[in-house]
Amino acid sequence: MLPKRQILHVDMDAFFASVEQRDNPALRGKPVLVGGLGGRSVVCAASYEARPFGVHSAMPMAEARRRCPQAVVVEPHRGRYEEVSASVFSIFRRYTPLVEGLSLDEAFLDVSCSQSLFGSGAEIALRLRADIYEDTGLTASAGVATTKFAAKIASDMNKPNGVTLVPEAVAEFLSTLPIRRMWGVGPKQEPRFLALGLRTFSDLQTADPRLLIRALGPEGLRYQELARGIDGREVIADAASKSIGAERTYEEDLRGRESIAAEVLLHAERVSRRLLEQDLAATHVVVKLKYADFSLLTRRRTLREPVSDTGSIYASCIESLGQMPLEGKRVRLVGVSVSGLAPWVRSRSLFPDHAREKRERLEQALLAAGKKTGARITRATLLGRP
Ligand SMILES: [Mg+2]
Repeated sequence: MLPKRQILHVDMDAFFASVEQRDNPALRGKPVLVGGLGGRSVVCAASYEARPFGVHSAMPMAEARRRCPQAVVVEPHRGRYEEVSASVFSIFRRYTPLVEGLSLDEAFLDVSCSQSLFGSGAEIALRLRADIYEDTGLTASAGVATTKFAAKIASDMNKPNGVTLVPEAVAEFLSTLPIRRMWGVGPKQEPRFLALGLRTFSDLQTADPRLLIRALGPEGLRYQELARGIDGREVIADAASKSIGAERTYEEDLRGRESIAAEVLLHAERVSRRLLEQDLAATHVVVKLKYADFSLLTRRRTLREPVSDTGSIYASCIESLGQMPLEGKRVRLVGVSVSGLAPWVRSRSLFPDHAREKRERLEQALLAAGKKTGARITRATLLGRP
């Protein structure tokens, strides 16, 4: 007999803010906002003490500080969050290899086949939360369900530091939820649903499918299935889906190919450093631009073999940039990311690219030297490249 399908969604509580409070006792018990102070900065995380003031992550920092002027603003320490995240994810992997990370602090785990070893999904959720607390001093919340969708919704229901078990009757459990809790329904889409008389999941469960298709397109049926607790999506283990990226929103829009290329180079360098630190190489390179009108454009290139050095990542980005409209455009965000990750091996090909291998070795040496001296490695020489 197949084991009962059990999916966990585990989400750290106010992750970045909690790490800051853990590392700095002076911040404990206080409203803390993690994020920059620049005019366009957004809140990356808000501690639970800040939330009663209506502050939440992704809110513009200026607005958050208006609502909660007594909050302490802390610059993000991304490296530290990544370290803690790595410990948390290694705890997840004690219980199942099927871990799909959604961000540094959030993952789906398929523990269906782990139950004979570790107990039911709910027991596993309790155990791994205890492990996380013991190893990191931080709390997490979890949802336990037979589907990803229900598990994700459930993890949010008893935050912070709670576990929510979704009963077999998923549809009934979901029925009273307001429609804005539906996956993909943000504040922007909510009025469309309300206009159709869809205020709760129950309304969506019983709505006429023809009405849904007419008003929402084919997605309308997908929403109805989810509301009824039907979700066949599998948990996809990380290595295949993982990506490493760097991006930045600028105080002032960028104009012109050269200034954008210069930012791409900085990102390529950061991405390369993180690949090398983890002994990884990547096959896909993605450039992302957000224009002043907030439209997004991405270009993805697949390389002949995995790379990890700044030069190769940068060269791929420059080729992509060549196909992206830049003349007369204002760009507010530039991002570079890589995926298709595999362990870095020295010679991957019958006809190895010796020049690239040399660059990779050089970067690894620079990285090691930088670590010793704490110096930042810059790569001004690459700026002259096309
Ligand atoms: Mg979280």
